[in-house]
Amino acid sequence: MVEEPRPAHCLVFPYPMQGHINPMHQFSKTLVSKGLKVTLVTTKFMFNSLQQLSGSMPIETVSDGYDVGGKYAAESIEVYLDKFKQVGSETLTQLIEKLNATGVPVDCIVYDPLMSWVLDVVKSCGLVGAIFFTQSCAVDNIYYHVKQGVIKVPVVEDRVSLPGLPVLGPLDMPSFVHNPGSYPATYNLVVNQFSDIDKVDWVLCNTFYKLEEEVIQWMSKHLRLRAIGPTIPRKYLHNQKTAEDDTDNGLQMFTPNIDSCMKWLNEQPDSSVVYVSFGSVAQLDAAQMQELACGIKQSKKQFLWVVRASEEAKLPKGFAEETSAQGMIVHWCSQMDVLAHKALGCFVTHCGWNSTLEALCLGVPMVAIPIWTDQGTNAKYVADVWRMGMRVDVDKNGVFTREMVQHCIRVVMDGEKGKEIKMSCRKWMEMAREAVKEGGSSDISINEFVASLTQQCN
Ligand code: UDP
Repeated sequence: MVEEPRPAHCLVFPYPMQGHINPMHQFSKTLVSKGLKVTLVTTKFMFNSLQQLSGSMPIETVSDGYDVGGKYAAESIEVYLDKFKQVGSETLTQLIEKLNATGVPVDCIVYDPLMSWVLDVVKSCGLVGAIFFTQSCAVDNIYYHVKQGVIKVPVVEDRVSLPGLPVLGPLDMPSFVHNPGSYPATYNLVVNQFSDIDKVDWVLCNTFYKLEEEVIQWMSKHLRLRAIGPTIPRKYLHNQKTAEDDTDNGLQMFTPNIDSCMKWLNEQPDSSVVYVSFGSVAQLDAAQMQELACGIKQSKKQFLWVVRASEEAKLPKGFAEETSAQGMIVHWCSQMDVLAHKALGCFVTHCGWNSTLEALCLGVPMVAIPIWTDQGTNAKYVADVWRMGMRVDVDKNGVFTREMVQHCIRVVMDGEKGKEIKMSCRKWMEMAREAVKEGGSSDISINEFVASLTQQCN
């Protein structure tokens, strides 16, 4: 009798932030569906903060040195990152030893390159190492060139040309590149994603070939890079509901307000609602909040606005009461369910990479208001390359106007240009679905990764 090959066992280790956990959790589910054994790894603090730990994915914890309070308990981000590297390396090694001793030996770590120190653990334990980029390949390319010293920061040129990318202006570059002094620790973190990148076995990117064809081709000449995305739950892509998907709303740091959002959306006409969300991290200042609120109100469209509890005090006084017939404000929602709803007309977004891909996969036009990090680059692509939306002008001090917010919402929802934008959205949505379905470009890349691991561990 021929023995079945042993399934390879992967640890999947995202940086402990919502926008990193979501895509790597989804990718883990895909690996499981293809026969691998996967254990998700997170910090003890994040594990205790996550809601709805539903689904069947095993989760193990390591320590960042701040089991109570996480990064918020450290005196600075620099101190936090140093401690995380030291305690994280020790506890990750202990976890691997524990799993090896209990009969589920670890073969591979798929890790977030924001924790570039994981590579040392990979090497010392003799494992396969795969990094997983949670940003676009265009943004990878920019940081790669910074790391190589080809781009000198801060960038002072008005126009930057890089292989595989459109010409980029200063505000199209990630904020850290034109202003590295503003958040030095975060700048180092993103650029050091490329430390020792030539020593990892695989570079996995949450994008798809047709979306970023030229830059993927260029990067692939230098790295063993595979586009494996977008990592969107299957139930939203192919109407292939499974029992697990039905109950699985992912791993959420905040409790989503699912029932009341859905009830409210169900009462709105098709394609009428403006959904507004700036993700899990971005903080608007009071002036930005004021302009955004007034722009939404003056658009006279119905709106559903996610304002995290920590941001709520910045809403203009009386705004929620004055607009209670026009819209609904919640602290957190199940964003995919909202974007998939037929009442949705457009998405006013900070252009975090996950939000951008989620809107793309569901064909929702965007109004981009980038705040920091890679959002300006994503906004550039949304508006000028993929033509899936309008970009609000935000100056280098973060200033934008209510008139521009209102104008962009109206163009996307009502204007002639809005019709072209909706056609592009449909085109990209179909291409994204093609990429992840059986035999699509991302599916083939994932199969190659799975087959290689299975072969190596047998
Ligand atoms: N999200 C959500 N509910 C909300 C707002 C956001 O589930 O009310 C999810 C969203 O679907 C996305 C993630 O949070 O997967 C945010 O990631 P993104 O990269 O867009 O932004 P970040 O939070 O990293 O700035």
